Amino acid sequence: MDCLFCKIIAGEIPSGKVYEDELVYAFRDINPQAPVHVLVVPKAHIASADEITADNSAAVAAIFAAIPKIAAAEGLTNGYRIITNIGEDGCQSVRHMHFHLLGGKKLPESMA
Ligand code: AMP
Ligand code: ZN
Repeated sequence: MDCLFCKIIAGEIPSGKVYEDELVYAFRDINPQAPVHVLVVPKAHIASADEITADNSAAVAAIFAAIPKIAAAEGLTNGYRIITNIGEDGCQSVRHMHFHLLGGKKLPESMA
Protein backbone atom coordinates (compact mmCIF):
# COMPACT_ATOMS: atom_id res chain seq x y z
CA MET A 1 0.00 0.00 0.00
CA ASP A 2 1.31 3.43 -0.88
CA CYS A 3 0.95 4.99 2.57
CA LEU A 4 3.52 7.42 3.95
CA PHE A 5 2.94 6.50 7.59
CA CYS A 6 3.00 2.73 6.89
CA LYS A 7 6.43 3.34 5.29
CA ILE A 8 7.59 5.31 8.34
CA ILE A 9 6.40 2.52 10.68
CA ALA A 10 8.21 -0.04 8.51
CA GLY A 11 11.41 2.05 8.69
CA GLU A 12 11.45 2.63 4.93
CA ILE A 13 11.28 6.39 5.52
CA PRO A 14 13.25 7.88 8.45
CA SER A 15 11.41 9.47 11.35
CA GLY A 16 12.14 10.97 14.73
CA LYS A 17 10.71 8.12 16.77
CA VAL A 18 9.72 9.00 20.33
CA TYR A 19 7.72 5.89 21.31
CA GLU A 20 6.90 2.42 20.04
CA ASP A 21 5.04 -0.60 21.36
CA GLU A 22 3.29 -3.60 19.85
CA LEU A 23 0.40 -1.56 18.45
CA VAL A 24 1.57 2.05 18.47
CA TYR A 25 4.28 4.17 16.81
CA ALA A 26 4.94 7.84 17.60
CA PHE A 27 7.31 10.28 15.89
CA ARG A 28 7.98 13.99 15.59
CA ASP A 29 5.96 15.95 13.06
CA ILE A 30 8.22 17.18 10.26
CA ASN A 31 6.53 20.61 10.33
CA PRO A 32 5.91 21.27 14.03
CA GLN A 33 3.08 23.61 15.02
CA ALA A 34 4.16 23.82 18.67
CA PRO A 35 7.38 23.22 20.66
CA VAL A 36 6.24 19.61 21.07
CA HIS A 37 4.40 18.14 18.06
CA VAL A 38 4.29 14.35 17.98
CA LEU A 39 2.16 12.15 15.73
CA VAL A 40 0.79 9.03 17.43
CA VAL A 41 -0.36 6.35 14.99
CA PRO A 42 -1.57 2.76 15.00
CA LYS A 43 0.89 0.33 13.41
CA ALA A 44 -2.04 -1.24 11.59
CA HIS A 45 -3.32 0.87 8.73
CA ILE A 46 -6.57 2.58 9.73
CA ALA A 47 -7.47 5.35 7.30
CA SER A 48 -8.99 7.76 9.80
CA ALA A 49 -10.88 7.92 13.08
CA ASP A 50 -14.01 7.53 10.96
CA GLU A 51 -12.85 3.95 10.27
CA ILE A 52 -12.70 2.90 13.95
CA THR A 53 -14.75 -0.21 14.66
CA ALA A 54 -15.10 -2.72 17.49
CA ASP A 55 -12.64 -4.91 15.56
CA ASN A 56 -9.76 -2.39 15.44
CA SER A 57 -10.41 -0.31 18.54
CA ALA A 58 -7.72 -2.11 20.59
CA ALA A 59 -5.23 -0.02 18.63
CA VAL A 60 -7.10 3.13 19.63
CA ALA A 61 -7.07 2.10 23.29
CA ALA A 62 -3.34 1.44 23.01
CA ILE A 63 -2.79 4.89 21.48
CA PHE A 64 -4.60 6.57 24.36
CA ALA A 65 -2.66 4.47 26.87
CA ALA A 66 0.58 5.58 25.20
CA ILE A 67 -0.26 9.29 25.03
CA PRO A 68 0.21 10.06 28.76
CA LYS A 69 3.56 8.25 28.70
CA ILE A 70 4.71 10.25 25.67
CA ALA A 71 3.44 13.51 27.20
CA ALA A 72 5.31 12.81 30.43
CA ALA A 73 8.49 11.95 28.53
CA GLU A 74 8.17 15.24 26.62
CA GLY A 75 7.77 17.16 29.88
CA LEU A 76 4.19 18.28 29.25
CA THR A 77 3.27 18.63 32.91
CA ASN A 78 0.96 21.61 32.34
CA GLY A 79 -1.33 20.04 29.74
CA TYR A 80 -1.43 19.50 26.00
CA ARG A 81 -3.84 18.98 23.12
CA ILE A 82 -4.78 15.92 21.04
CA ILE A 83 -6.22 16.48 17.57
CA THR A 84 -7.15 14.10 14.78
CA ASN A 85 -8.19 15.42 11.39
CA ILE A 86 -10.66 13.40 9.33
CA GLY A 87 -11.25 13.58 5.58
CA GLU A 88 -11.56 16.59 3.30
CA ASP A 89 -13.38 18.97 5.63
CA GLY A 90 -11.07 17.99 8.49
CA CYS A 91 -8.03 18.75 6.25
CA GLN A 92 -6.57 15.28 6.74
CA SER A 93 -3.53 15.21 4.43
CA VAL A 94 -2.22 11.74 5.33
CA ARG A 95 -4.87 9.01 5.14
CA HIS A 96 -3.42 6.87 7.94
CA MET A 97 -5.09 7.80 11.22
CA HIS A 98 -2.86 9.92 13.43
CA PHE A 99 -3.32 11.84 16.64
CA HIS A 100 -1.42 15.12 16.86
CA LEU A 101 0.01 15.62 20.35
CA LEU A 102 0.70 19.34 20.73
CA GLY A 103 2.16 21.15 23.69
CA GLY A 104 5.05 22.96 25.24
CA LYS A 105 3.30 26.33 25.16
CA LYS A 106 -0.14 27.81 25.88
CA LEU A 107 -2.09 26.76 22.78
CA PRO A 108 -4.64 28.99 21.01
CA GLU A 109 -8.15 28.82 22.45
CA SER A 110 -9.70 28.53 19.00
CA MET A 111 -9.94 25.04 17.51
CA ALA A 112 -11.72 25.91 14.25
P1 AMP B 1 -2.87 15.93 8.82
O1 AMP B 1 -2.87 17.23 8.04
O2 AMP B 1 -3.74 15.95 10.03
O3 AMP B 1 -3.14 14.75 7.92
O4 AMP B 1 -1.40 15.78 9.39
C1 AMP B 1 -0.37 15.22 8.67
C2 AMP B 1 0.88 15.63 9.38
O5 AMP B 1 1.94 14.82 8.92
C3 AMP B 1 1.30 17.08 9.12
O6 AMP B 1 1.35 17.79 10.35
C4 AMP B 1 2.67 16.94 8.47
O7 AMP B 1 3.56 17.96 8.87
C5 AMP B 1 3.10 15.58 8.94
N1 AMP B 1 4.06 14.90 8.08
C6 AMP B 1 4.01 14.75 6.73
N2 AMP B 1 5.06 14.03 6.30
C7 AMP B 1 5.79 13.70 7.39
C8 AMP B 1 6.98 12.97 7.61
N3 AMP B 1 7.67 12.40 6.60
N4 AMP B 1 7.46 12.86 8.88
C9 AMP B 1 6.80 13.43 9.90
N5 AMP B 1 5.64 14.12 9.77
C10 AMP B 1 5.16 14.27 8.54
ZN1 ZN C 1 -0.86 3.38 6.47
